[in-house]
Amino acid sequence: MSVLEIRDLQTTVETEQGTKQILRGVDLTVKSGEIHAVMGPNGSGKSTLAYTIAGHPKYTVTGGTITLDGEDVLAMTVDQRARAGLFLAMQYPVEIPGVTNTNFLRTAKTAIDGEAPSIRQWTKDVKGAMEKLRMDPSFAARNVNEGFSGGEKKRNEILQLELLKPRFAVLDETDSGLDVDALKIVSEGVNRAHQASDLGILLITHYTRILRYIKPDFVHVFVAGKMAEEGGPDLAERLEEEGYDRYVDALNVS
Ligand code: ADP
Ligand code: MG
Ligand code: MG
Repeated sequence: MSVLEIRDLQTTVETEQGTKQILRGVDLTVKSGEIHAVMGPNGSGKSTLAYTIAGHPKYTVTGGTITLDGEDVLAMTVDQRARAGLFLAMQYPVEIPGVTNTNFLRTAKTAIDGEAPSIRQWTKDVKGAMEKLRMDPSFAARNVNEGFSGGEKKRNEILQLELLKPRFAVLDETDSGLDVDALKIVSEGVNRAHQASDLGILLITHYTRILRYIKPDFVHVFVAGKMAEEGGPDLAERLEEEGYDRYVDALNVS
């Protein structure tokens, strides 16, 4: 069993107005096989948390720790984090012109595993994973995310998740911009990955809709750069009814 531990994490970002504090002491522990939903209003710093875990250079950690089975994640490069088993499905997946999906996936798989997968098995795996995500085979030969619709990009992120088989996945608003059918397909992919390898999941979302398909063990309310409340699945139902106002108001009063 693996443990991803975040303690008192503080992150700043450089803006045109100067250095801005975004994460203000985030605490979170995710163990193998657990699904944690992190829910919060827009601008609260959810993507900043995701990027900080992944090691995006724009985000500076000014305090706190992230460890994976006791290993210092913050001391690792982006590549080392991926090899250690961390995966990020981005809210806004980037296009990579000139690199086909197939080549990208194979290169990533080779880098993470330390050896190239056999072509025969790999071709079969990619084809099978794409079929399950109802992706047209033509997407294999297309450049990564180039000209993909929002929903196609999200599917492509889950394709990577299923093929790269990380230990922990951060899914940043994988549900946003998906119609109900696509949401189901993407959720099934996440659930397959979860069941196949005891994947630990940090499911970042603004809406409760995806939680009908992906059942969280824990729900965290994230407001103004930190966790405001933690609970079980029933907390998501309460958020659905009450929204985030209560948490935001509490911050403004104090
Ligand atoms: P969320 O994902 O919860 O909507 P974000 O992490 O994207 O929140 O953003 C949190 C705050 O940090 C916002 O006010 C946003 O404008 C700011 N921010 C995040 N990343 C950057 C950046 N690269 N440059 C400038 N401001 C940023
Ligand atoms: Mg589980
Ligand atoms: Mg975001």
